[in-house]
Amino acid sequence: MERHDVLVVGAGLAGQRAALAAIQAGRDVAILSKLHPLRSHSGAAQGGINAALGAEDSVDTHIYDTVKGSDYLGDQDAIEFFCKEAGPTVVEMEHFGTIFSRGDDGSLARRAFGGAGFPRTIYAADRTGLALLQALYERIGTESFTLYEEWDLTSIVVREGRCQGVIAFNRLSGSFEPIAAKSVVIATGPAGRVYGRTTNAHTCTGDGIAAAYRAGAALKDMEFVQFHPTALLESSILITEGARGEGGILKNGKGERFMSRYAPHVLDLASRDVVSRAIWTEVEEGRGFPGGYVHLELMHLGQEKIETRLEEICDFSRKFAGVDPVTEPIPVMPAQHYIMGGIGTNLRGETNIKGLFAAGEAACVSIHGANRLGGNSLLETLVFGKQAGIAAAEYAKVAPASTLRESEAEPDAARVKAMSNRAEGEEPQRLRMEMQNVMDTQVGIYRAFSALANALRAIRALQARFEKVRIVDPSSTFNLNLTDALETGHMLDLAETIIVGAIARTESRGAHARTDYPKRDDAHWMRHTLATYSHEGPKLSYAPVAYTRWEPKERVY
Ligand SMILES: Cc1cc2nc3c(=O)[nH]c(=O)nc-3n(C[C@H](O)[C@H](O)[C@H](O)COP(=O)(O)OP(=O)(O)OC[C@H]3O[C@@H](n4cnc5c(N)ncnc54)[C@H](O)[C@@H]3O)c2cc1C
Repeated sequence: MERHDVLVVGAGLAGQRAALAAIQAGRDVAILSKLHPLRSHSGAAQGGINAALGAEDSVDTHIYDTVKGSDYLGDQDAIEFFCKEAGPTVVEMEHFGTIFSRGDDGSLARRAFGGAGFPRTIYAADRTGLALLQALYERIGTESFTLYEEWDLTSIVVREGRCQGVIAFNRLSGSFEPIAAKSVVIATGPAGRVYGRTTNAHTCTGDGIAAAYRAGAALKDMEFVQFHPTALLESSILITEGARGEGGILKNGKGERFMSRYAPHVLDLASRDVVSRAIWTEVEEGRGFPGGYVHLELMHLGQEKIETRLEEICDFSRKFAGVDPVTEPIPVMPAQHYIMGGIGTNLRGETNIKGLFAAGEAACVSIHGANRLGGNSLLETLVFGKQAGIAAAEYAKVAPASTLRESEAEPDAARVKAMSNRAEGEEPQRLRMEMQNVMDTQVGIYRAFSALANALRAIRALQARFEKVRIVDPSSTFNLNLTDALETGHMLDLAETIIVGAIARTESRGAHARTDYPKRDDAHWMRHTLATYSHEGPKLSYAPVAYTRWEPKERVY
């Protein structure tokens, strides 16, 4: 059996940064990833990464904007640490070789982003994630570590009060293998494919969050799901907030700049929850374009700016919507974009399970609280990826050897074998699509008890049907029908935690907007939701929010 000091699951920005920190601390490190590292969703990030580097900006303003953006649910001690680390983190990535866009004077160019008091989003045109991912991949390539590429994490083994390692599926050989590790860092990224209308890649299925949940980790604030205001109409491909940061404007079917009604001061650059609700309301109240959408206009910015600063956006609009942003408006609607919740951790990436750490979108520290600001997530992967790597390395240095046994891979292998041997049953893809439809239609931007209760019943019915899921493809190499089944099982668990948390939270805060409880209720709900696994469904408990300097106020943009 393979053994390591530190096993990092996920090779996006969070995973690679965690691994680099653990390698630098002198530990034997492995990374396990279902994708080639450069195909991680981090590479799809367009708009940029936040750091208060300009003379007129300050770390304190970044902290304040993040606290306000979170609708006061973010932990202020974590946010303070996070924003202080921003400058050094971006400079380090620049030194690793990230080619950022620059201003005329040669300094790092910055663009305005939603909910930010100053233009503080540093970018590489509209390919910031890819630029960062490539630089970090080249940097980590100079170190020595083991890479399990195209392996899927299926279970995390917790025994004797600590994490002993993982069980993973090797796509090439078709076998389930145990991998022993003293520390395991989960950095498996987003879970956006729980929804159908999402900007997330098809691979963003929340596997690591689900595996941690089944292993006893507490998931934090799962009910908070971010919808990005501007996704292309049919494909849901993201049109970066950078497009509005560069001066793009939203208009409804009557030609009105409707954002003046919802955010009179900052208009199109209000935070994402506010803009998404505004678009939704315009369309619901009949002021959208026929078929239900609004326009994002860039034409007034001029061809040169559009084609240099927003090159990919041009490409996506032309290829996937058949419109040229230089001469025509882009048809957009909100789509699921980010999960604020995840595996609950502290500032060091530690979870409630000894030896189990988490970072990146799979984790919830929490710095985003009820609503994440654009540009803060790339930064989070690097800041807290590094912290989790350091903590995992420290723990591995003193932890006893893992007692994982070869036989512990058998239950996962047996479970999948049963799915393959079934003569009758449903295809995972069908269950996945039904789940996505439930989430799109009943657990969206606006929520209410009756729809949430229907959604919970529907997801539980799908979970029951999943017991009889059938893998029809018999092949033992690169069996995507099999991995589809694994992912669908994970997502059904996560959908359930999102809905149960959303039903319980009888208030509206950040991205969680209840039409039956339209007000924020600080007296009862200024607290984090924790969900732990039980056979009967998620068990909820609550944890306090950390405050340092900012008293909750009404949020106005
Ligand atoms: C289209 C888009 C644009 C965005 N733009 C921005 C932006 O401009 N600025 C910003 O701050 N944020 C942006 N975000 C959010 C941000 O990019 C992500 O939150 C962040 O990059 C996630 O990084 P990560 O390392 O946590 O996960 P990822 O980069 O998604 O990496 C996850 C890794 O986990 C691996 N993995 C997953 N499941 C398994 C499994 N079962 N077994 C083994 N490995 C597994 C994958 O192979 C992958 O390597 C954007 C997101 C999207 C979807």
